Amino acid sequence: MIDQTTSTMTAGMAYPTVRMRRLRQSPALRTLVRETELTPGDLILPLFVRPGSREKRPISSMPGQFQWSVDTLVTEVREIAAFGIRSVLLFGIPSEKDSHGSENADPDGIVPTAIRAIKAAVPEMIVISDMCFCEYTDHGHCGIINQPGRAHYRPEMAEGYLLNDPTLDALGRASVVHAEAGADIIAPSGMLDGMVGAIRAALDRAGYELTPVMSYAVKFASGFYGPFRDAAESPPAFGDRSQYQMDPANGREAVREALLDLEEGADLLIVKPALPYLDVLREVRGQANVPIAAYQVSGEYAMLHAAAANGWLDLERCAMESLTSIKRAGADMILTYFAKDVVRWLNH
Ligand SMILES: [Zn+2]
Repeated sequence: MIDQTTSTMTAGMAYPTVRMRRLRQSPALRTLVRETELTPGDLILPLFVRPGSREKRPISSMPGQFQWSVDTLVTEVREIAAFGIRSVLLFGIPSEKDSHGSENADPDGIVPTAIRAIKAAVPEMIVISDMCFCEYTDHGHCGIINQPGRAHYRPEMAEGYLLNDPTLDALGRASVVHAEAGADIIAPSGMLDGMVGAIRAALDRAGYELTPVMSYAVKFASGFYGPFRDAAESPPAFGDRSQYQMDPANGREAVREALLDLEEGADLLIVKPALPYLDVLREVRGQANVPIAAYQVSGEYAMLHAAAANGWLDLERCAMESLTSIKRAGADMILTYFAKDVVRWLNH
């Protein structure tokens, strides 16, 4: 953290009295004065779960990441728990998609089934449920779409427009289903207006007033999500998500989004992506007095792997540098596909 008082205390003193290199002379001294430290407890590992059994399908654009079936997922979660990772974020690939993304609210859907299996095997693992419809809808958008002949059709609105308020009801219902399955935290990611308040109210009505809401409050319409869409099999069938995700150019609006979600009752906030938005992360950290997570997204992960595979960058060094910079900018926790690697790197 940058301490504003430092500059006044040392004013007037400079070289040769001041020699910044004094404290850089040995690894022990450098460790002693290190301001930012990554620990396994900071990390949340995103995981993809799909139907079937004994599945471990590699995701080609995300080396080292897989789509798991529930049985192999449980084995993986046992392993990472033994490693010291305490939190996972689940994304589901349903067996069937439809216009409303019904499987998201099905108690026997892929994510509720996975949550129950993980909590039975590793009860202490924090299971965060990504709450959105884009993985479950046949059109790949994050909720109910305005279409003639379909429920909630509004002729005065454009066809294909994501309908905000009907989607809120659906998010509330699905969140209760995930909480019933044992989700420790619900993380709405669709950037709909009012999503946090709607989910909070639905959870409270159903007796889940102690289930926290971790809002993707600041989610930019980013090109860095490219590899994720392969991983979650969720590219939009038409248009893009700029109607609801944020313009990458807007920092002040990001703070407003964060503060609105706090007013609606968010317990934790997410800024996504991370590295291209460190200024936003710092600003949100300064203005929102709740734990802040940053999501190092699939494209950030894939870029580092691609460069390392070409011999252009050292993977460990650059991944650790990126993650440390994200924490230095103000993240209390980081959602990262490098979680397992980081624990291994910290231990050698
Ligand atoms: Zn979505």
